[in-house]
Amino acid sequence: MKLHEYQSKFRFAEYGIPIPQGQTATTANQAFTIAEEISGPVVVKAQVLAGGRGKAGGVKLARDPEEAKKHATAILGMNIKGLIVKKVLVDPAVEIETEIYLGVTIDRTARRAVMIASSAGGIAIEEVAAQTPEKIIRIHIDPHLGLLNYQARNIASEIGLPRNLWKQFVQIAGALYKCYEDSDASMTEINPLVVINGDQLLALDGKMTLDDNALFRHPRLAEMRDTDEEAPAETLARQSDLNYVKLDGEIGCMVNGAGLAMATMDMTKLFGGSPANFLDIGGGAKSDKVAAALRIILADPNVKSVLFNIFGGITRCDEVARGILSALNEVHTSVPMVARLVGTNDEEGRAILAQANMITATTLAEAAQKSVEAARSTSEK
Ligand code: GDP
Ligand code: MN
Repeated sequence: MKLHEYQSKFRFAEYGIPIPQGQTATTANQAFTIAEEISGPVVVKAQVLAGGRGKAGGVKLARDPEEAKKHATAILGMNIKGLIVKKVLVDPAVEIETEIYLGVTIDRTARRAVMIASSAGGIAIEEVAAQTPEKIIRIHIDPHLGLLNYQARNIASEIGLPRNLWKQFVQIAGALYKCYEDSDASMTEINPLVVINGDQLLALDGKMTLDDNALFRHPRLAEMRDTDEEAPAETLARQSDLNYVKLDGEIGCMVNGAGLAMATMDMTKLFGGSPANFLDIGGGAKSDKVAAALRIILADPNVKSVLFNIFGGITRCDEVARGILSALNEVHTSVPMVARLVGTNDEEGRAILAQANMITATTLAEAAQKSVEAARSTSEK
């Protein structure tokens, strides 16, 4: 789950990271009022869960409240990378002297968190990494020790930060790591962290990605979820307790078990197809869950065939079959479906599915092959 800029920055502030004292608005008039209170130039910023808002025209400087209102009018409702802007942040504008990048994320290979910093802040770190990799500093953090002051000082030195700012930098870097750790985040980022007045650091932009599997430990953060900003399929999948990841292929897959789902996806690839999603309905799924899963799969316009691969253990094949039927009663579709059910109650399951117009298979290889063929014939129609 991603947090908005304003949510991330308010969280950073709880850890003592200096941020601009702004507020959010959902209407242009509110933006006007906030700008009036700030009394001075402001920056109006689109709150969408996408990077590169600046380039897309979602970050605009305003000299006075009138101009702030004008920018808010333009930005609210704007479409940035497929997301509609519903909120803006109005921050006091500052005179930027230097833009720094500072972030923490997980380095899976090193099995630790890594702090990443660069003197080339303000632009996407991916671009810096591609064009000027020498400008990126990485420091791994021992989970038992946390970020040590000398490590933060080393970073400050490497990015060429003037000495008079080191103390503040060490405090901010330590706070950012603490915030990352306390929040069970997989990424926290300040881009840019700026120098103003020659002697002050300020976090101008903030981003946080939280680990969904740890959200139960953070009810206050979990409440910050903005479902408006989520793909509807993902919201539905989460509410139905399904593990769903959308992919770019044309074969919808419904499988019980993550490992089996991976094997199923591999198998469709092997036969020349490409999976439209990863979907694990989990163990013991009842028919309503199966129906929700099928609705999610069929909502994807790329899906040209659906492959059910169910290995009945705790999950009963007849339950799954009933779920498929009940979903098909609701969602009328001409997308061909291939089912492979084996294990607990598989005969009953197959008997139920015989009522639906379904292609059946006994082995996974056969099922994968048939779903690839079915997808091809759908595409040719
Ligand atoms: P992003 O494009 O989504 O990463 O949005 P940012 O919040 O990082 O803003 C993009 C850029 O706008 C920053 O890198 C700055 O160059 C500029 N910017 C943002 N706030 C201010 C401000 O208060 N004053 C000035 N001069 N520039 C700002
Ligand atoms: Mn930014």
